[in-house]
Amino acid sequence: MHIHDLIGVGFGPSNLSLAIALAELPQAAGTTLDSCFIERQNDFVWHGNMLLDGTTMQVSFLKDLATLRNPASAFTFINYLHQNQRLEDFINLKTFFPSRQEFNQYLTWAADHFDQDVHYGEEVVEVLPQQEGREVVCLRVRSRGSDGRLHERLTRNLALGIGGSPRIPEEFRGLAGHPQVFHSSRYLQQVAALPSRPLRIAVVGAGQSAAEIFMDLHSRHPGYQVDLISRSRALKPADDSPFVNEVFNPSYTDFIYASAEEDRSQLLTEFSNTNYAVVDLPLIEQIYQTLYLQKVSSQQRHRYLRCHGIAQAEAHGDQLALTLHDQDSGTFFRQDYDAVILATGFQRQAHHQLLAPLADWLDSNQTDRYYRVATRPHFLPQIFLQGCSENTHGLSDTLLSVLAIRSAEIRDALLPELQRPSRKAYA
Ligand SMILES: Cc1cc2nc3c(=O)[nH]c(=O)nc-3n(C[C@H](O)[C@H](O)[C@H](O)COP(=O)(O)OP(=O)(O)OC[C@H]3O[C@@H](n4cnc5c(N)ncnc54)[C@H](O)[C@@H]3O)c2cc1C
Repeated sequence: MHIHDLIGVGFGPSNLSLAIALAELPQAAGTTLDSCFIERQNDFVWHGNMLLDGTTMQVSFLKDLATLRNPASAFTFINYLHQNQRLEDFINLKTFFPSRQEFNQYLTWAADHFDQDVHYGEEVVEVLPQQEGREVVCLRVRSRGSDGRLHERLTRNLALGIGGSPRIPEEFRGLAGHPQVFHSSRYLQQVAALPSRPLRIAVVGAGQSAAEIFMDLHSRHPGYQVDLISRSRALKPADDSPFVNEVFNPSYTDFIYASAEEDRSQLLTEFSNTNYAVVDLPLIEQIYQTLYLQKVSSQQRHRYLRCHGIAQAEAHGDQLALTLHDQDSGTFFRQDYDAVILATGFQRQAHHQLLAPLADWLDSNQTDRYYRVATRPHFLPQIFLQGCSENTHGLSDTLLSVLAIRSAEIRDALLPELQRPSRKAYA
């Protein structure tokens, strides 16, 4: 069987950026890499179930797939605009923050250039060792197609860019599969299937997705009554002020990685209000105004149930009963809903499961500065993790901010002869 130099699992922005960095290998390097990517979605789409009207990027368009590595790349957002005859009009918007829909179009446009290298509609289910004597010489990547067929490919190196998996609170585990209890990652698909009549809906969470879904439901149907439920006391603004934003500079990764473990975790906590359980200020103001206008009209449609925990969740046929805990008064009460939407974030553990068959040779909890998993002797493949190293590489690891540079770091670790002393030399 043919052995690839590299297989990328997942074809979201991380591995797409890596594909671009590989395609832009300096000609002087005189080497090309035989790579392919495996993506479980049938086509490229960036968080398609959260492409809500009116939502915008939370990062400057200059932190696109390529600019920070190579501003002259053909894959910059600016070139995308130019190719689509919108550059002049975009300039007139005077913004660094395009709509998420437009950024998804940009990413899709970039992904289309790699169609021949991507196997869409296949989910990688495990990665097995391929041994010659005592040595693991390459990896057998097993995936299942949407038609149920198993596929196997061999590779010398692996780059996992599989994003996060929905975090489902314990109380809702028993309701998995209920069509009216769903995570934000399935929002648009599932909300479209809700009955078109007045409904009582709970949105659980205190972050950007919870806030966006609340406003989307508000304008989606005049009969929807929405409770936004969170344990926190207030919706808090995401801090994207300039000095704070420096934690997302690619150069900050070196600083974080070189810091002692306790300093790192202190830094993650100190700056978690840039990304976790926070909302863009204009959206908070919009929600506040919506709730205020209800007071003006004396017609309560939605509620913000702050300082409320969820003690229990049960389904009685179509009806969902939540037992809510008012943390201020200490009281518990039952509230019935037609649908519950969990905007409860993501966890990043799926790589452990995929790599479980390799457990004798590696420690998937540990990555070096180049995002390479620590391996034991007699294991030759290199495995790179993208988006799973927040603890060691900083808050930017799960976001777009470092993509362009990280992909060059991974590429150059794959091709050690390309390693350069200075990031400025990347091309
Ligand atoms: C709604 C939303 C908005 C966001 N907005 C921003 C923003 O404005 N700015 C920012 O910096 N970050 C944002 N983020 C963070 C987000 O993580 C990054 O934007 C980006 O998507 C990370 O890219 P990725 O490729 O690492 O992961 P993902 O985009 O999650 O892509 C992973 C891909 O891997 C595929 N996959 C997973 N498992 C398998 C498997 N076993 N086999 C095959 N394929 C698999 C998935 O289908 C997916 O296509 C947002 C996140 C969400 C949810």
